[in-house]
Amino acid sequence: MAFARALARVEELTGRAFDPRPTLVVRTREEWVAQVRSWHAPPVDGDEDGDGSDEDDESGDGEAAPSDPYGVLFVTLGIVPARDAEQRSMAAVMEHNQGYYDRDAHEVTFITDAPRARRDAALGHALIHALQTQTAPFYVVEDDTGRADDVRWAYVAAAEAEGVLADLAWPAATLDPATLAPEVERLPVRLGLPAIEAEPYALRWTYWSYVAGCRLGLARLRALADAGEATTIATLGASLRKRPPVSTEQVHHPERGDAPRAVFAPDLAAVIDDGTLTLVMRSVLGEWTLADWVRAVDATAAPGGEPAAPERLGGGLPDDLRWGGDLVQAYHDGERWAVIVWTEWDDEASARRFEAILGGADAVRGVRSGRRVVASCGPDVHPSREALAAALASVESVPFASLTELERIVADRED
Ligand SMILES: [Zn+2]
Repeated sequence: MAFARALARVEELTGRAFDPRPTLVVRTREEWVAQVRSWHAPPVDGDEDGDGSDEDDESGDGEAAPSDPYGVLFVTLGIVPARDAEQRSMAAVMEHNQGYYDRDAHEVTFITDAPRARRDAALGHALIHALQTQTAPFYVVEDDTGRADDVRWAYVAAAEAEGVLADLAWPAATLDPATLAPEVERLPVRLGLPAIEAEPYALRWTYWSYVAGCRLGLARLRALADAGEATTIATLGASLRKRPPVSTEQVHHPERGDAPRAVFAPDLAAVIDDGTLTLVMRSVLGEWTLADWVRAVDATAAPGGEPAAPERLGGGLPDDLRWGGDLVQAYHDGERWAVIVWTEWDDEASARRFEAILGGADAVRGVRSGRRVVASCGPDVHPSREALAAALASVESVPFASLTELERIVADRED
């Protein structure tokens, strides 16, 4: 049957063996959607702000306020509408639109409505993720500090580089970058994006990793060809595992060798409003998410104000903004929120440009010092500009070349 055939072919193509061999579970689309929604369901007692509204805004106008720090962050930055929980569920449904690997159960779920002609390729894609989970770093990053968020997205892109390119070329072993490049650019259309344009934010979460990941994969394949090596799924996989991208900047700009920087900033709880908020979340936006923020606030970067139109999927920051590192903090007192974004740029010109973009956003207080810009984004309360400037002077940053190095740096600093 198709599963046994796809399993054997993936071992051949990658030169790696499953341990253990995954089993197959077949589900209908309805069963799969119900499963994914149960993973992403908001907490039952989730009406933390006491206004009775919570996430039950089914009217489609997107006005329900999120209650989780990531939801507040993305809504505050203008990246996603308030229906974030639902949007993320939708993204997950579409990400695994034909197959999915459960790494605890070692099960590959296959969704029965995949077109018959594509079934082996779809199974192959899911099985490549199974192998990546078993034998490589991709998809197994555990992090509860938020510091590795951008690295995780970079890893997802690298994983999709192997999975989607193998899928596009299935069942061939050779990945010819010249043949695949137009296929990659057609990917949004092939995946049905124009038909579901009404959900651009949900699509963004999913297809960024496909499109940007495949572009990274093509760059790696061209480098292999230039070095006189074979451009196969096995050599691409080996390249990605040996030198995975450690920031979404390295996904967008494979040609840039500069290391991302881990940014360390002070806790501002004491200087926000009356000092009753506490720091509840840290994260790293990275170039990918920062690009959406820039498009949300910079009219010149986003004609028409649409931050995630299909042609923008996979896009990074404009060339005059060279990201170096960032840190986001969310503060909360059970009712009010404050979001602070600390950024470090590769050069002062980028920092000045970013400062100018933020200057156009009414709700943001930005302060720059050299290559660093701190932005207080509300949505409810802010520290004063003086407090931001004083805190900016004590920010530090450390470059890292691998996830292991990042984890060590963070552990050393935060002991
Ligand atoms: Zn995938």
